[in-house]
Amino acid sequence: MTSPWEYSDFDDHEGLHLFRDPAAGLTAVVAIHSTALGPAAGGVRFWHYADRVDAITDALRLSRGMSFKNAMAGLPMGGGKGVILADAVRRKTPELLAAFGRAVDSLGGRYVTAEDVGMSVEDLVAIARETKYVSGLPVGEGRAGGDPGPYTAKGVFLGVRAAIRRALGKESAAGVHVAIQGVGSVGGGLARLLAADGAKLTLADMDRGRAERLAAELGAQTVAASEILGVEADVVSPCALGAILDAQSIAALKTPVVAGGANNQLATLADGDRLHARGILYAPDYVINAGGIINVGLEYLGQGDRAEVEARIAHIPARLEQVWDESVATGDPAATVADRIAMRLIGRA
Ligand code: NAD
Repeated sequence: MTSPWEYSDFDDHEGLHLFRDPAAGLTAVVAIHSTALGPAAGGVRFWHYADRVDAITDALRLSRGMSFKNAMAGLPMGGGKGVILADAVRRKTPELLAAFGRAVDSLGGRYVTAEDVGMSVEDLVAIARETKYVSGLPVGEGRAGGDPGPYTAKGVFLGVRAAIRRALGKESAAGVHVAIQGVGSVGGGLARLLAADGAKLTLADMDRGRAERLAAELGAQTVAASEILGVEADVVSPCALGAILDAQSIAALKTPVVAGGANNQLATLADGDRLHARGILYAPDYVINAGGIINVGLEYLGQGDRAEVEARIAHIPARLEQVWDESVATGDPAATVADRIAMRLIGRA
């Protein structure tokens, strides 16, 4: 049995909390990576894991990513992540959600939860009956907050345009070919924004029907999910699950740019080196996909309206430029540079 200290993804996390409520069917993990900049913010994932070690590993990795993301987004928030271990049929009951709410509440505000894979706005509303340490709740017209997906998509769109400008010297996506892996909340929103900007799109989703319906609406092409990372295009945009960039997939890439919304795209940091060695411009995931956390972070802090959210999302391209400039100046891969800047910001340089 591996002790938490021996997990390769343990990075001096401030806390790792395990919760059990058998009567409610709850088994959950909350990892708090850092509260140096403020309460540890990050969504809760509802997922069926092969075993508990995988769940803890996911919470450790994702919470560290949230520390980096929140710091780079300029939010006064640290990084944390919740993981609820779903059973094989992914039964999500009111009792389970209430028990998770009590678990979050017991941390006294050190961790603030929100939506992640497998969790809806309605689920967060149920959790919020037990704790005030929640964001991503329905909000009034014009207020910051609510579903983070469209805001993440907007930030990724602006980041893709910045990458296009840098790598291809073009001011818009008109005529630029973008291959999108995963057309759910983020990838679907991105596809719509790119289509409106005149991009040529190739779409893929594990749910082939979903990709085909969107392609019909936007006049795009589709390919099988297994082929999307090898499409010959200007940009490949990973917007599905993580760890999809590894030695094999990077060797097969036929695009000068990788810029997409998925979390933890690199299987390992060495894959950031591989992209760099191939001369591929990479937009570090937690820099480009911060739009959603900016939205729910400002909601939690009670600090803003939609105009403020949009203004902060508009800074994402400048942060990417900072990373790419430092990458050119130092010769280090963009992924390494982004980690270095983020660690500096949270006082762990
Ligand atoms: P989603 O569930 O709405 O959509 C994901 C889509 O990807 C689904 O349609 C699914 O069928 C598809 N998919 C899964 N594996 C695939 C594969 N191998 N090939 C092709 N398609 C595949 O999720 P989402 O909210 O759009 O999130 C997508 C990614 O963006 C995740 O990595 C998530 O962690 C990250 N992210 C989301 C947000 C947000 O605000 N929703 C914020 C930051 C990061």
